Amino acid sequence: MVKKTGSDQAFTATTLHGMGGEPTYGGALSFLRRRYTRDLSGVDVAVTGVPLDLATTNRPGARFGPQAIRRASAMLSWGKPWPWGFDPFERLAVVDAGDCWFDFGRPETIAAAIERHARAILEAGSAMLTLGGDHFISEPLLRAHHARYGPLALVQFDAHSDTWADEGRRLDHGTQFLYAIEDGLIDPAGSVQVGIRTHNDADHGITVLDAAQVEAAGAAGTAREIARVVGDRPAYFSFDVDCLDPGFAPGTGTPVAGGLSTAMARAILRGLVDVPFVGMDVVEVSPPYDVADVTALAAATIALDWLCIVARQRRGRSP
Ligand code: MN
Ligand code: MN
Repeated sequence: MVKKTGSDQAFTATTLHGMGGEPTYGGALSFLRRRYTRDLSGVDVAVTGVPLDLATTNRPGARFGPQAIRRASAMLSWGKPWPWGFDPFERLAVVDAGDCWFDFGRPETIAAAIERHARAILEAGSAMLTLGGDHFISEPLLRAHHARYGPLALVQFDAHSDTWADEGRRLDHGTQFLYAIEDGLIDPAGSVQVGIRTHNDADHGITVLDAAQVEAAGAAGTAREIARVVGDRPAYFSFDVDCLDPGFAPGTGTPVAGGLSTAMARAILRGLVDVPFVGMDVVEVSPPYDVADVTALAAATIALDWLCIVARQRRGRSP
C-alpha cells in the first residue's frame, strides 16, 4: 500500500495510487479521497456526480446525492475494504472529476448535457463511476457508453423496472430503460433486473430476478444467474439504492418495503467478479430523507465494491 498521510488529500496527495490515512471527520470531500481533478491522463476510472432530481416522481432530493455519497465515502477511505483485503488503488488510478453541469431551467437540454459530459470522459480513455442523481441520468450515460462499446448488458438493481411506457420522451426516472431498449443502447437478452418489487406487465425481454427470487436463490445463486445472462457482453451496472429495503436505505425517493439487505447486495456483487463491467452508476440517494447517512454509506460501499471488482480484474485475479 502506498502510504499517504495528512489532510485534504483530494488536492495534496502526490500520487493517484494507494488509500490514505486522512481523518474521517475533516478535509476536502472528494470520493474516497481521490484526487479532485479534470485531468484524466493515466486515469482508469473517473468518478463524477450528476446532481439531478428533476425527473423524480415522488420525494425529491437526489440532487444532493453526489455530495452525500462523497461525504459518506470518507468513512471508507482509510484502509483495505472488507472483505476484499486489498487496496484497489494500488493498481487502479481513480480520480474524482467533479460534477456534470447542466441548466436546470432548461430541462430539454439536460439529457444532452449529461451525454456530452460522459462522452468527454470516455473519449479520454477513462471508465466512469457516476453518482446520481435520480435514475433518469442512466439514459444519457448509456447513450455515451453505447457510442464507445456498442449494445450493453444492463445489470440493474432496483425495486422498479423503469421500463414503463409513457406518452413521449419525458424527463422521467421510470421510463428511461424502455427508451434504452427502443434505441438499441441495451440488449435485453443480456440484461437483468435484480430486487424488483413492483409489477410491470411487460418485461421487454429482460430477465427479472425479483426480491423474492433473490431471497430464494441466495447471493451465490443470484450472482450465477446474473453472470449467465450477461455472458461476455460489455456490462453496465446501474444500482438504484431503492433496491435495498427501506430499513437499509430510507434516504431515497420511492422506497418499497421488502427489499434486499445491504449485506445481500454486497454478497451478490462479490459473485460478479468475472462480469466484464465497463461502467457503473449509483442513483436515487436522497439525503433529506436519510438517517445518520446510512443510505449514502450503503451507496458509497457498493461503489467501492464495484471498484474492487474492476481492480481485481486488472490484477489478473490475484488475490
Ligand atoms: Mn430506478
Ligand atoms: Mn427504483
